[in-house]
Amino acid sequence: MVEEIIKRIKERSPLGKERLAAFVGGYLSGAIGKEDATRILRAVCDFGLSDADAVSLTEVMLESGDRLSFKPRKYLYADKHSTGGVADSTTLVIAPIVAAAGVPFLKMSGRKLGHTGGTIDKLECFSGFRTELSVKEAEAVVDKTGAAIIAQSKDLVPADKALYKLRDETDTVKSLPLIASSVVSKKLASGADVLVLDVKTGAGAFMDTLEEGKKLAQLMVRILHDSGRQAAALLSDMNSPLGEGIGGVMEVIDAIEVLEGKESRLRDLSVAIAGLLIARAKKVSEKEGQKEAFSLLKTGKALAKLKEIVAAQGGSLDLFSKETRTSVTSSVAGTVSAPRSGFVEKIDCVSLGNLAREFENAGGFGMTVPVKIGSPVAKGDVIVRLFGETKAPDDMLSALSDCFTLSPTPIASLPLVYEIVT
Ligand code: URA
Repeated sequence: MVEEIIKRIKERSPLGKERLAAFVGGYLSGAIGKEDATRILRAVCDFGLSDADAVSLTEVMLESGDRLSFKPRKYLYADKHSTGGVADSTTLVIAPIVAAAGVPFLKMSGRKLGHTGGTIDKLECFSGFRTELSVKEAEAVVDKTGAAIIAQSKDLVPADKALYKLRDETDTVKSLPLIASSVVSKKLASGADVLVLDVKTGAGAFMDTLEEGKKLAQLMVRILHDSGRQAAALLSDMNSPLGEGIGGVMEVIDAIEVLEGKESRLRDLSVAIAGLLIARAKKVSEKEGQKEAFSLLKTGKALAKLKEIVAAQGGSLDLFSKETRTSVTSSVAGTVSAPRSGFVEKIDCVSLGNLAREFENAGGFGMTVPVKIGSPVAKGDVIVRLFGETKAPDDMLSALSDCFTLSPTPIASLPLVYEIVT
């Protein structure tokens, strides 16, 4: 069976739902071992799957577990998903904005994948925050606060839970059909009516070109529409880290600062996604949705809402205090400076994300990167600041420095959103 599946993938012959179910079911039951499953995943990464097989794979994954459905409310249920980026803590900004607008928001989030951060890892920075809620408990949190963010339970899309981990361990993440089936199966299982997908494109995304990102966006939106959901996808830039903080606690601090009023690309993208969700869930125009999202952020209502959500899921509110944050941001573990004056031409976001993960695994808090593509820098300006209780090793500082290419001549900054696919 395994050999036949691999042969068909390589020949680009249709696999069909039965063979895909045999692969997924076989891996879940242990009949197909890690090594063979990885060979199949690697073949998919190298040779792709037809759209029809990607749809079947999504169905097989969805059918591997339970599905949620919620009691009707005044407005439709909303959810968002990002295909994974660096310094992307949009969920922590979007969830409270949408909830503060009265739109119920329930999101199932994942952990770190490859070089990208995971929302669950970030939420666990609020000590005591419970992500392993049952559906009943999650609904009670939505009832109380308007939003809940939970980890993928073992009963919802167990196939994705298992394959996601294997893909992360075996570097078989970058594949359009694997990403589409992973994202869409979870979104269908988690029962929301209105979805906005943030498809990252560029050097730090799993889809590096705009063309590939667009194909992924179109495939996912199509499967969601065919399943009766309202869906839109934004193609957003990932040639620069989205926010300033990279690594769990630094990303949480970044999101809180945005909710406190800091202007950044993280804020702009969060407002764009929250606005689309509010517009669709409340059936108002996109302009009205954006206006409401922005006003909830500006008036501090979204910040207050995040505190409510964190408290309702058992998390400590310590990180909302400036003193606690200062205790993190005053422990500088190293800095990287611009070796000469110029303009940021390229940022190797994949290496930056991997180095941040390595630094966190070694006990560091994370880092901040205050520059984007096009930013002017003077010789000696700090372009990376690492935080942690022990000094960052020199080889890490030098690897971080290698992530940046400077140009002597001005470089245009890149758009934040390239296109919206509906
Ligand atoms: N996000 C997911 O949920 N799955 C992927 O495969 C990539 C990003």
